[in-house]
Amino acid sequence: MSDDNKKQHPATITAQALGWVEETTRSVTPPIYPSTTFERKTDLSYHDGRCYTRTDNPTYDQACAVLDALEGGVETRLFASGMAAAVAVLHALSPGDHVVAPKVMYWALRSFMLDSGVRAGLTFDFVDNGDTDEWVKHIKPGTTKLVWLETPANPDWQITDIAAVCAAAHKAGAIVAVDNTVATPLLTRPIEKGADIVMHSATKYLNGHSDVLAGTLTTADKDSQFWQNIRKQHAGGGGVLGVFEAWLLLRGMRTLSVRVERACTNAMAIARHFENHPEIEQVQYPGLESHIGHDIAKRQMNGGFGGMLSIRVKGGGKRAVDFHNQCKLFKRATSLGGVESLIEHRASVEGPTSPVPDDLLRLSVGIENADDLINDLETALANSK
Ligand code: PLP
Repeated sequence: MSDDNKKQHPATITAQALGWVEETTRSVTPPIYPSTTFERKTDLSYHDGRCYTRTDNPTYDQACAVLDALEGGVETRLFASGMAAAVAVLHALSPGDHVVAPKVMYWALRSFMLDSGVRAGLTFDFVDNGDTDEWVKHIKPGTTKLVWLETPANPDWQITDIAAVCAAAHKAGAIVAVDNTVATPLLTRPIEKGADIVMHSATKYLNGHSDVLAGTLTTADKDSQFWQNIRKQHAGGGGVLGVFEAWLLLRGMRTLSVRVERACTNAMAIARHFENHPEIEQVQYPGLESHIGHDIAKRQMNGGFGGMLSIRVKGGGKRAVDFHNQCKLFKRATSLGGVESLIEHRASVEGPTSPVPDDLLRLSVGIENADDLINDLETALANSK
């Protein structure tokens, strides 16, 4: 990356996708290279070092460079899904290694850790996201090899102090990986705070249109043994992103800054509107002073508190489900980070082992008009029993 690009604001980096112009035709949007294989020279070398698409395809380059620039990392790898990216980090560990992760986090990854992770010989401690002392207490020098963070974390949006946990983890010789899906690099840059690896479900905000499944890992140190293990898992395990999806991801990232800005404004308007509502038990949003993680969020997040919030409805689980059934603009669907607003009853998605209360609805706030979204929720709430 040139020094000029390093100085650019994320809005410029994303809108221009670093301003790359294709050499042959001077096209400002890049071509897709569907070829899975590349011709060798007679001396058996390759024209630009590329052999086979599973290890490298030119379609990936620009999206990876944009993510390096946004996250302040030195190398990015694209995976077939966010889960494939997260699992590649776990695969970089060895049997007997200890992992510290949040008690409340993206539930499918926590289930994977407890099932496949345990069968692979890893041991886990799950701690309270917002309690730095608890993180420090569970990081065991020499034994803990990975500290996994998710902040704000699904679905109560607790905030972890990245810098404080990184300091403790590094002192103990552990790697820190941060799931930055919800914050996006526009609001939080974990590598600046000391993290070693940043992970995204690019299915969410990075792509932003609910039409691509993708995952990313970005590293602060591409020579570390841990990252070399991840690279082997990426190419050897084969869970790489298709080139058409990589192209769509780059197209989606071009509007990231306006989408995130609008989602933050809308989420804050909804959170404020329902904060003291007589029919609402609690609004969980890190932008509210009443949120348990607000003080850390104010320090750690720049430019907004994200587009995700949860609402606990008076009247329990049955009313919460009826309320979400009455919504018209908010679609009853899982996932997050798209342009359209979604609402979800998390306890019924996560099942009986979920720590999520039954009266909680998770909202992924899109880029529609805030008044229309508030009216939709108000009408649904008034009609719900
Ligand atoms: N991390 C977070 C915070 C998520 O919300 C999700 C998916 O919902 C994932 C990781 C997994 O990503 P994917 O669905 O792209 O595999």
